[in-house]
Amino acid sequence: MFHYMAGWATKIEGNTITLSVPYMPGAGFHAYTLREPIGVIAQIIPWNFPLLMAAWKLAPALATGNTVILKPAEQTPLTALRLAELIAEAGIPDGVVNVLPGYGESAGAALAAHDDVDKVAFTGSTEVGKLIVQAAAGNLKKVTLELGGKSPNIVLDDADPDIAIQGAANAIFFNHGQCCVAGSRLFIQEDRFDQVVEGVAGIARGIKLGPGLEPGTQMGPLVSDEQLQRVTGYLDSGRDEGAHTVVGGSRHGEQGYFVQPTVLIGAHPSTKVVREEIFGPVVVASPFSDLDQIAAEANDTTYGLGAGIWTRDISKAHALASRIRAGTVWINCYNVFDAALPFGGYKQSGWGREMGHEVLEAYTEVKAVCTQL
Ligand code: NAP
Ligand code: MG
Repeated sequence: MFHYMAGWATKIEGNTITLSVPYMPGAGFHAYTLREPIGVIAQIIPWNFPLLMAAWKLAPALATGNTVILKPAEQTPLTALRLAELIAEAGIPDGVVNVLPGYGESAGAALAAHDDVDKVAFTGSTEVGKLIVQAAAGNLKKVTLELGGKSPNIVLDDADPDIAIQGAANAIFFNHGQCCVAGSRLFIQEDRFDQVVEGVAGIARGIKLGPGLEPGTQMGPLVSDEQLQRVTGYLDSGRDEGAHTVVGGSRHGEQGYFVQPTVLIGAHPSTKVVREEIFGPVVVASPFSDLDQIAAEANDTTYGLGAGIWTRDISKAHALASRIRAGTVWINCYNVFDAALPFGGYKQSGWGREMGHEVLEAYTEVKAVCTQL
């Protein structure tokens, strides 16, 4: 991320613009635009990918000449502090990057409301994202938001089953489902439903849970007791609201924050496990028959962050991709990120984009300079 964004630092350009100004006939003008830093940026990040989130936020802000106050999540301040040490060692002037550990309700809220902060860039829950917007209203600071998701992952009947099954499992179980883009709603075309559900359930059964430092461990614990309660609460609610558990469905063991990788079927589209972000290793699978209806079903969510499509038919893939309301659509892959690929959300999954050249717009102001000749 730093390498890619460092390349942009020397390529921030404005335009020269030819004016007509019809109400000043005969006058000549020379006009151009400048892209300038916004100023002091507050960046508030979550715990699910602590160092990565810091890099996604810091690199574009610095490449465009801003200064930063970064608040890491309460659970995970150490990588950000170590990065700050390395930044100081690298010779970045004092005061350009400031890492401010603290709680969201105090340190985070104070940054979001502060009159001397020119922009707040936030990654986390949609709920807190809305608080950030309200707090930012005081001085109308700029706001970008990378929020939650309930991303659809769609397997068409002509998909390569092995690739789609492994892909669907990775989409939900990577990082224990603690991913904003987790493929948590799995839609499978009818003829393949049993095969794909059984395949993903088989992978779930084979995942070895355990402490991260133990050799052979494939999935560790969730981040906290709070997250354990939240995810197991959703498992209970899914059962109460009539979903059937194919595999998993509860806490793993008596100690630690381990949750079994879980596949649910038969959940009604109006139930909480289908509508709300669980942020754990829990996927809800549903069959569909009609390709014309699947985009509407996939879009039946307040979120719009990621989506997956698995098919060997390139026309169907791109036709469906254009109908999905999400910031990223992966075809025959999932969770592929690149510094050059813009990332962000439609609808309540966020405002603005991170990465790619799109992020430069989120960290610069445009100034128009107009001279009469
Ligand atoms: P969160 O509450 O949204 O926290 C994200 C960041 O915002 C943390 O640094 C947090 O501080 C801070 N924060 C909390 N309240 C704030 C406020 N009023 N003003 C300013 N900053 C505030 O997320 P979480 O508690 O870590 O997790 C809760 C849920 O959020 C998860 O279950 C998941 O659904 C979602 N989530 C989404 C993402 C994503 O990438 N989209 C990432 C993580 C979590 P603290 O350090 O005090 O928490
Ligand atoms: Mg928190």
